[in-house]
Amino acid sequence: MHATIEQLDIQAKELLAKLGDNNLSMKERLTIPLQDMPTQDPMQRITNMEEVALGYTENQVKVEAMRCLQCKNKPCIQGCPVGIDIPAFILQAAKGDFAGANATIKESSLLPSICGRVCPQENQCQEYCTYGKIKKDISQSVAIGRIERYVADYAREHNQDVTPFVKKSTRKKVAIVGSGPASVSAAADVRREGHTVVMYEALHKAGGVLVYGIPEFRLPKKLVQRELDGLASMGVEINKNFLVGKTRTLEDLKDKDGFDAIFIGAGAGLPKFLNIPGENLIGVFSANEYLTRSNLMKAYDQKHSLTPLFPSEKVAVFGGGNVAMDSARTAKRLGAKEVTIIYRRSEDELPARKEEVEHAKEEGINFLLLHQPHEIIANEKGSVKGVKVVTCKLGEPDASGRRRPIEIEGTEQVIDFDTVVVSIGNASNPLLKQTTKGLDVNKRGNIIINEETCETSIKGVYAGGDIVLGAATVILAMGQGRKAAKSINAYLNNN
Ligand code: FAD
Ligand code: SF4
Repeated sequence: MHATIEQLDIQAKELLAKLGDNNLSMKERLTIPLQDMPTQDPMQRITNMEEVALGYTENQVKVEAMRCLQCKNKPCIQGCPVGIDIPAFILQAAKGDFAGANATIKESSLLPSICGRVCPQENQCQEYCTYGKIKKDISQSVAIGRIERYVADYAREHNQDVTPFVKKSTRKKVAIVGSGPASVSAAADVRREGHTVVMYEALHKAGGVLVYGIPEFRLPKKLVQRELDGLASMGVEINKNFLVGKTRTLEDLKDKDGFDAIFIGAGAGLPKFLNIPGENLIGVFSANEYLTRSNLMKAYDQKHSLTPLFPSEKVAVFGGGNVAMDSARTAKRLGAKEVTIIYRRSEDELPARKEEVEHAKEEGINFLLLHQPHEIIANEKGSVKGVKVVTCKLGEPDASGRRRPIEIEGTEQVIDFDTVVVSIGNASNPLLKQTTKGLDVNKRGNIIINEETCETSIKGVYAGGDIVLGAATVILAMGQGRKAAKSINAYLNNN
């Protein structure tokens, strides 16, 4: 039975009346139930693109914050890549000081309303939470991300989010390549020091994966736009439709356009394919193209979109990560009757967040586990007609630590599909490497940096985010953006 936000709020309100003013013993805190996230009803939400998770109510956030044990050794902080003072902001939230809680978070993280929504907290701060450890169940940890989301939304909606102070102009210029979370963080921290900051984005909209990849139903685009508006109001110039490596080379920016330092946050936007027969057929998409068409080009708006997606009936999504879940759930919202995730390992090995898998299941996505695609079959017009798959069993763990899939001979079968979305990962785009002399990359094409400073093999050129880490996470990209900004500021001060 799907509980409504009103029902969850009433339960929290009643509990809050019993708990009083946060003056509780550890034993009492350990009896407080985890507050469920209110969501749109699954049957309703597959008919729209609006956010699935509705966010805690005030009563819920206070109850959830009261679960925090305020551990002296603060283990949760070591699980946060940017070291937010988690117990401090949770205590402020428990007392109803939401603006204060937001200010505490903002000392370490620039994008809390985004991270509160998309960070894989179960593998980060919540994995270390004592509450989950005592209960021997990580899913029972304090819902740190949900509290973070609430306080950040509260501050925004009550205009209590302040634009960072920008120091007097230093007349030094910094170019930022890309506009994803790594670049946004780097731009803000460099601009604060009074340097002129110009951001260059290849696409016609800024925001990186936050805008073109992660769907609206997980991350409303108005939140990302607000962060970009914040950058603009700090005086950061954002140039779109500008592909560094083509429009201007990195060397042009450095040697001809007068930039004193450059940050590269170009992400990992090159889709990988399985290299099986049929991947060039009509109706086969990379997850990147599929999601970009939907998110950025608004392909779901069949009447107004200039690049609508053709209507699919039966969609196969190859892969089991978050991007695969996003693609499958997008296909459902675009009107597909049947959507199937095809993954070669079992459910235990699915790399996607558990919450995303649960949401996908609630929305009626099928999971064809322990199956490996071998070929995409065409009809007489060269369009997708089906996928040949083979059944797998699990062997010993491989280098990734997950059990290796082994194909079982004689189990080939063809299943009907009219659309295939390949979602098996991304690599770095080679353009910058190809057009920049002396820029060192590793064998996977990721830019090599000095771990301490984020400086690349070229003096004054720094890099961070997915272009360095490979496809990673928003918070890791942000963390590197901030680290690089610190080095850039030091470099400019010393020169
Ligand atoms: P990006 O966000 O990739 O931004 C790079 C930007 O640089 C892009 O806008 C690109 O157009 C631009 N660019 C590239 N080359 C050039 C050039 N030569 N000149 C100018 N501009 C250029 N992470 C999570 O933490 N949680 C999630 O739930 C999650 N879900 C995801 C879902 C999807 C569909 C995808 C694809 C990724 C997801 N990730 C998630 C990963 C996360 O979004 C990335 O790790 C993060 O966005 C990386 O940030 P970045 O700033 O390094 O690069
Ligand atoms: Fe609170 Fe959990 Fe952090 Fe302890 S580990 S301070 S219970 S959030």
